[in-house]
Amino acid sequence: MIIQEYCMYCGACAGVCVADAIDVQELKIVIDDEKCTKCGLCIKACPVAALSLE
Ligand code: SF4
Ligand code: SF4
Repeated sequence: MIIQEYCMYCGACAGVCVADAIDVQELKIVIDDEKCTKCGLCIKACPVAALSLE
């Protein structure tokens, strides 16, 4: 999941997602749960800890 208030829309998470599950939109990050493999790469890539596997 994503804490939208923390996110600064840098796109780092989408850049590392091997499943292409993250869509960085204007003022919103959308994660496609059907594509996401819960690999955790995006969590490590996020500079502001806005992502979690919850
Ligand atoms: S956990 Fe992995 S597959 Fe899921 S959105 Fe993050 S980088 Fe993509
Ligand atoms: S890496 Fe973190 S701050 Fe950057 S777009 Fe993704 S969730 Fe937002």
